[in-house]
Amino acid sequence: MKSVLEGRPALKEEIDKIAEVAGYLWQNGWAERNGGNITVNITDLVDDGIKALPAIGEVKRIGTALPALKGTYFYCKGTGKRMRDLARRPMDNGSIIRVLDNCESYAIIADKEVLPTSELPSHLSVHARLIEKGSPYKATVHTHPIELIAMSHNKKFMKKDVLTNILWSMIPETKAFCPLGLGMVPYELPGSVELANATLNALEEYDVVMWEKHGVFAKGLDVMDAFDQIDVLSKSAKIYIDAKCMGFTPDGMSEEQMKEMTVAFNLPR
Ligand SMILES: [Zn+2]
Repeated sequence: MKSVLEGRPALKEEIDKIAEVAGYLWQNGWAERNGGNITVNITDLVDDGIKALPAIGEVKRIGTALPALKGTYFYCKGTGKRMRDLARRPMDNGSIIRVLDNCESYAIIADKEVLPTSELPSHLSVHARLIEKGSPYKATVHTHPIELIAMSHNKKFMKKDVLTNILWSMIPETKAFCPLGLGMVPYELPGSVELANATLNALEEYDVVMWEKHGVFAKGLDVMDAFDQIDVLSKSAKIYIDAKCMGFTPDGMSEEQMKEMTVAFNLPR
């Protein structure tokens, strides 16, 4: 069967980026079994040929009404699929969906009937909020970065911006490339409405949020941008933990040095 990616270099490039990031998540040890999710809004890359594609299988309900998503298209990782498989075969381990005009249901349109992630309602809610705000962000990533999760097992790190300031102070690049810091979402049941709502709220202020004792959820301009922000935070967490393993608490950059960064790089905080 012909893939929807054939003859569509811009769409293929976007899907290739998703596959590349899925490989990084696996290589980093952040994506055990079917852990993690990626959804990307690809509406801007959709042509008339894609718009005319029939639904594969039955139309499915999202479980919530999202008017901002009328006529939008997304690539979604498949439910139960593994990142390490998606890295090699993105269209066998994920699919492209069309949100229907009632804004309550969707159809899979390419390449195969791979059911989207069970976290689809929460991912789509985030995309709907981004569209409502006129945001240029197109991608959301959920993954399980080991060191960041380990740090979330300590209540003192869960207080607002405590971890942000520690991670920013480990290496200047973290503040420069994750300039809004790391939001904190207290533990909620995976897949619950409570977790989705808390995530939506935290993403008003941050690009990356920590789900206590679970993982991170990030939004970005594209999937690479979302990954990079998680990656720099994770790097800082590793430096902190390495210092602790050597028997000392790292000094971190001083307040002055952090302020100097804000000014020099014109950072928002
Ligand atoms: Zn998870």
